[in-house]
Amino acid sequence: MHKPLRIAAIAAACAVAGAGLYGAGAATAGQSTANSTHEPYNIGLLVKDIDTYYGTTLDAGGVYQASPDSQYAKDLAALDKAARKYIDQAARKAHHKGEKPAVVFDIDDTLLLSLDYEKRYNYTYNSATWADYVNKADRPGVFGSAELVQYADSKGVEVFYNSGLSEAQRTAAVANLKKIGADVNLDTDHVFLKDKANPPAYLSACATPGTWTCTTVQYKGGTRKHIEDDLGYEIIANFGDQYSDLDGGYADRTYKLPNPTYFVS
Ligand SMILES: [Mg+2]
Repeated sequence: MHKPLRIAAIAAACAVAGAGLYGAGAATAGQSTANSTHEPYNIGLLVKDIDTYYGTTLDAGGVYQASPDSQYAKDLAALDKAARKYIDQAARKAHHKGEKPAVVFDIDDTLLLSLDYEKRYNYTYNSATWADYVNKADRPGVFGSAELVQYADSKGVEVFYNSGLSEAQRTAAVANLKKIGADVNLDTDHVFLKDKANPPAYLSACATPGTWTCTTVQYKGGTRKHIEDDLGYEIIANFGDQYSDLDGGYADRTYKLPNPTYFVS
């Protein structure tokens, strides 16, 4: 990820020890800002709620997995169903108008599920453990997302990936996407990753070689602008688990996937 600006949804030590409060309240699914005008939700109960929501189980290999019959899976299935219907209609319309329709997918927790990492590290973030985790290239897919990628492709819609993962994580990200069946357009022309050392010219407003000041919205929105204005595509839908994946325009419709485990501003 990303996540220089990431806010942990839960402070682990607090949850385990049951002592202390963390921050000014954590944002959860369906919220774009934190609540701070009343006592925040109890952190110990929130941890349990998250487990219940994902139907979290520890598999034989010692990996935390989401359950396919969880509310999380049901919410995703409803989103996928609506998205397929829309993609089918929007693709037809775009083709009729002579446009080149495209869809954009975030990667972390939109296509590749990080629940095992989040639970294992008590919903905190550390760049070293995160890099190790990503480089294993063994994350499970977010339910239905690889199928949605395939569906868009089958409708003649160009699939792009727009991720805060770094260039150094490209090989692992591509291998992991292939492993879960999202094996569409996994080339450098379609998988946009963060290249802080050598940022593309279209991000020059906030990034030059050696200087990176882009916010997530500037980076991701600037990438979508490039896809539309420079590459000539019409982005009919943009999928992400964070509001910062979706803000900034350059998409006809946005789809917010559930993720109550962290917040990236
Ligand atoms: Mg994400």
